[in-house]
Amino acid sequence: MEIVHQKEFLKSFVQGWERQGKSVGFVPTMGALHEGHLHLVRKARAENEIVVVSIFVNPLQFNNADDLKKYPRNLSRDQEMLEKEGIDLLFAPEADGFYSSKALIAIDFGTVSSGLEGQMRPGHFSGVGIVLARLFHLLSPRKAYFGAKDLQQVAVVRALVRDLDFQLEVVRCPTHREESGLAMSSRNTRLSDSGKQTAAHLYQALQLAASEAGGDLQKGKTKAMDFLSRFPQITIEYLEWVDCNTMEILAAHPAQSQEKAICIAAWLEGVRLIDNLIVD
Ligand code: AMP
Repeated sequence: MEIVHQKEFLKSFVQGWERQGKSVGFVPTMGALHEGHLHLVRKARAENEIVVVSIFVNPLQFNNADDLKKYPRNLSRDQEMLEKEGIDLLFAPEADGFYSSKALIAIDFGTVSSGLEGQMRPGHFSGVGIVLARLFHLLSPRKAYFGAKDLQQVAVVRALVRDLDFQLEVVRCPTHREESGLAMSSRNTRLSDSGKQTAAHLYQALQLAASEAGGDLQKGKTKAMDFLSRFPQITIEYLEWVDCNTMEILAAHPAQSQEKAICIAAWLEGVRLIDNLIVD
């Protein structure tokens, strides 16, 4: 596994792969890797000749300085995990080297980013868009892998790829969960053991809401809210039904049948958690 810290050194690798006609699968991450990340890596490994993973805690996508500071980092452990997965190259830049100057642009993803995470974390998806556009330019991947856990991010990346005509396929991978149902997340390392148990109730709430997916969506939401009200440690930021492609919030009885999802963001022990459940 090659490890590259400076973007200037990527070019010779990428050109070499291009010359040999090798397909590159790319998994962008912020590190503090867990099994959820590794599932993306394994899918990329199975579908491509070359696999590149990036680890970069992108300051541009943090609207909260404290969240950026507290974000878990463990590069040496991550390196070991990726070595075992047999990836070809790990790109782990420092923020200063990656952004030599302050970004002048902001990307507006319109209605795709106007609700949920986009509303709660102003500037977040602009930062996601800028970092991914840069990484896609640097690496020219044929496929890029993203987790359904960050459902709105998938919709944003699809919009970015379509509107800026990046020649790559966006692959959405299922959310990987603990046995308890808790969606794996780097942020879970900041929860106590009992916090992790409590956090698993978020998934149960999503399942309750999803049990009404074929009928009145509002009824499902109410069921989930009532269930979560039994756990005062959890503070809900939002709980919404959305269309998975447009990320628009759905009414109680949406007109046409779309791929929809129930999405939640909640605080527990000072940690912000998000999850969702997709219903066809
Ligand atoms: P992050 O390091 O949190 O930016 O995540 C990097 C990628 O891994 C994103 O595409 C996430 O959606 C994905 N990911 C994070 N957690 C999970 C999970 N539990 N299951 C599947 N994918 C995940």
